[in-house]
Amino acid sequence: MRSFLLINKRALRRNIEKIFSLQKKRIIAVLKANAYGIGLKEVAPIVANHPLVDQIAIACPEEGAELRELGIKKPILVLGGAFENELKLIEKYSLTPVISHTEHIRALENFQGKVHIKFDTGMGRLGFFKLPDLKNLKIEGAMTHLCCPQDEKETKNQIRLFLKSIKSLKNLRFIHIQSSGALTYRADFATHVRVGISIFGEKPFEGFSLNFEHAIELKARLLSIKELPKGHGISYSKTFITPKPMKVGVVAIGYADGLSRQLSNKGFLYLNSKKIPILGNITMDLTMVNLSHLEAKVGDYVEVVGPNQSFFEIAKTANTIPYEIMTSLSGRINRIVI
Ligand SMILES: *Cc1c(COP(=O)(O)O)cnc(C)c1O
Repeated sequence: MRSFLLINKRALRRNIEKIFSLQKKRIIAVLKANAYGIGLKEVAPIVANHPLVDQIAIACPEEGAELRELGIKKPILVLGGAFENELKLIEKYSLTPVISHTEHIRALENFQGKVHIKFDTGMGRLGFFKLPDLKNLKIEGAMTHLCCPQDEKETKNQIRLFLKSIKSLKNLRFIHIQSSGALTYRADFATHVRVGISIFGEKPFEGFSLNFEHAIELKARLLSIKELPKGHGISYSKTFITPKPMKVGVVAIGYADGLSRQLSNKGFLYLNSKKIPILGNITMDLTMVNLSHLEAKVGDYVEVVGPNQSFFEIAKTANTIPYEIMTSLSGRINRIVI
């Protein structure tokens, strides 16, 4: 195997248990975008079947269908609403759409299943500002999404606004607001938290005060090691020139696997917990690293993500967020559950 993601089943479970213990709220687990790029096939059975998880949320009906094909029986929430032409899929796979536009209500006018309703309390994305005419839809849940959990004032205001928005809705079995970044807030009227990234143990933003267990490691193999003489260029456009003779390793992972090209000449990988700088431009399938003064042999695995470096740290170096790095992980990387 040239590269693999190690998915730690126990760590995923412990993170779910910690999330529950923080708020004493059961969980809607968000597994959109191939379980944040980690692998739906591997992650879904562990997360969805956890007794503290009541529903799985995904972005579109196709992702819901995929979950059902994987044998997941729990309710599946489609965060991205419903187009008329998706009704068949929604019915066939018993999905629960979240409605956030009158057009969704119209598309679902003959739908017999349950739906959740979404309110916009500040995100400026999906959701109603006020309660629409719900026709004869069976509303079992209501939600809003927080735009700035880093900002206490804004977040508390959103939570207050949401409480007002749902006042006239009766018999809601699911009221959910908090994503991972908002697990430090109180919203006693909410029945569930709706979290994704914290299940994998990654923090949602800089300064986030809670710690979860890193459940995912990413490793890739050294395909070649060679000495380059002083003054030799490395990779496309020769953005790195060796200042002295250097031992250079070629790692079998590239931007097509999800290793952001932004990390070129900036990021680090680790070999036996020793930091190894990335040299030159990252290429589609391969990445060069500095192995000077290190013991290394062809076939050794280097750590991309693991005890020494999280997705969060990689993302920071690449000027983005861990969500983007994770969801860029390609199908070429092997997935191993331990
Ligand atoms: C992705 C998403 C979440 C989960 O967010 P995390 O920060 O990963 O916990 C929750 N709610 C909505 C609407 C989302 O799109």
